[in-house]
Amino acid sequence: MSTAIDCDICIIGAGSAGLLVAAGAAQLGAATVLVERGKMGGDCLNYGCVPSKALLAAAKTAAVCRDAGRFGVIAGEPEIDFPAVMRHVHEVIATIAPNDSVARYEGLGTTVIHADARFTGPGEIVAGEHRIRARRFVIATGSAPSAPPIPGLDQVAYLTNETIFDNTVRPDHLIVIGGGPIGMEMAQAHLRLGARVSVLEAAQVLAKDDPELAVLLRDRLIAEGVAIREGTAIARIEAVAGGIAAIIRGPDPAGSDPSKPGGEERIVGSHILVAAGRRPNVATLDLEKAGIAHGKQGILVDARLRTTNRRVFAIGDVAGGPQFTHIAAYHAGIVIRNALFRIPARVDYRALPWVTYTDPELAHVGLAEAAARARYGSDIAILRSAFHDNDRAQTERATHGLVKVVTRRNGRILGASILGPHAGEIIHPWVLAIGRRLKIKAMAEMIAPYPTLGEVGKRAASSFYVAKLFSRRTKNLVRFLARFG
Ligand SMILES: Cc1cc2nc3c(=O)[nH]c(=O)nc-3n(C[C@H](O)[C@H](O)[C@H](O)COP(=O)(O)OP(=O)(O)OC[C@H]3O[C@@H](n4cnc5c(N)ncnc54)[C@H](O)[C@@H]3O)c2cc1C
Repeated sequence: MSTAIDCDICIIGAGSAGLLVAAGAAQLGAATVLVERGKMGGDCLNYGCVPSKALLAAAKTAAVCRDAGRFGVIAGEPEIDFPAVMRHVHEVIATIAPNDSVARYEGLGTTVIHADARFTGPGEIVAGEHRIRARRFVIATGSAPSAPPIPGLDQVAYLTNETIFDNTVRPDHLIVIGGGPIGMEMAQAHLRLGARVSVLEAAQVLAKDDPELAVLLRDRLIAEGVAIREGTAIARIEAVAGGIAAIIRGPDPAGSDPSKPGGEERIVGSHILVAAGRRPNVATLDLEKAGIAHGKQGILVDARLRTTNRRVFAIGDVAGGPQFTHIAAYHAGIVIRNALFRIPARVDYRALPWVTYTDPELAHVGLAEAAARARYGSDIAILRSAFHDNDRAQTERATHGLVKVVTRRNGRILGASILGPHAGEIIHPWVLAIGRRLKIKAMAEMIAPYPTLGEVGKRAASSFYVAKLFSRRTKNLVRFLARFG
């Protein structure tokens, strides 16, 4: 027998996006219902950010042991207990899990329902035995890994982000399909934990980042031992004795004609990880019954995150925009303002940062060089400073990478990319600078403590004036020589 629930706001999905709306709404006194069909905490806690960063931390520990000799500390080749590494990953998840638990949310006053939700009309969903009517709905159902249509892939047991953290057998040779952030993080983590790793990428790895820095990171990972094949088409996947074979066609190896495919090559691995894109979780929601339009990228939303049904919002990965936990949190704030305070808040991605947590890390915010050139033509300046010239990076022997900043010629900061140690931390002032529309002067005049990695950013900022002074002096010199020379 079904029970009827009437509430102010009903949220579908208890991942990063849904949880924050539920917490905010409940604490503001709204009658709040949260529906989750899987694990509380969604992808980030269970299959995404948290386990991937915990695995990378274990991998970095192994790398530190191998590298310790450079510091005069003799540790040597570490012994990797792979099941224990995965236990560490799950301990970290378990430690954080109470923050996202049913008990915590019920304690905040939310009604939590464990069921699969689907719309039955514009203002009603069914979830298990419950029929829920709400003044506002928020769809926060996230995304799932999507497998590319490669012949034979569905005939083998491939890994995705939903299963790789349960794999307690160290891969002998991990083949990673997809060279985006997830693929690259998992590639380096597994390499450092003792696996051989091959990354197969149809185009270029880390294609959403500034190519200058992405290439530096790619070359660093290749030097460390990851086999990276770009411009590679996978013709088919076959199960073979003791493993899985990817039959690939790369660019012409002779290199005479990059558009001409070369011959077939077999890469045999023990495991395959598919990290080649995501699809929005909409299939079971019966969106058409509620008049909610969606496309391949996700649910269609306006700048206020409203769907084509004005009482329904869509946020986080399912909303078809950037897919990050901090964006899910940002969306949650926008929906709370729109739905509960009736303040017409809109999304603004100008100062959206993202980070790939390899070692070194690759962080970005704002416009990259190509996008800035497309918008402002020659009215831009490019500033660079290398970690090699930073004393703290030298003391830590972590000198690979650089800060690259894009400004208008008047100094307005448009974007920043950082490849280097702790780039995800060092990007913070640049996020603030772009969000607050600061000029490069503010960064150049900041007193940075010495010796810190963040000084690389200040040095890049100062180079704006060095270049100007130099060019003015040069111009004057040229003028002087023209007159008196
Ligand atoms: C390997 C990996 C690493 C990542 N690392 C980072 C990182 O370092 N930093 C970062 O910012 N982002 C990272 N991300 C991205 C981040 O995890 C996502 O952007 C974020 O989890 C999206 O949150 P969400 O709330 O939109 O969706 P989710 O967290 O996916 O939550 C959606 C929830 O909805 C539930 N649901 C779906 N359909 C229904 C239904 N019909 N009824 C009821 N419940 C339903 C699901 O079970 C799920 O729990 C990573 C992702 C992956 C895969």
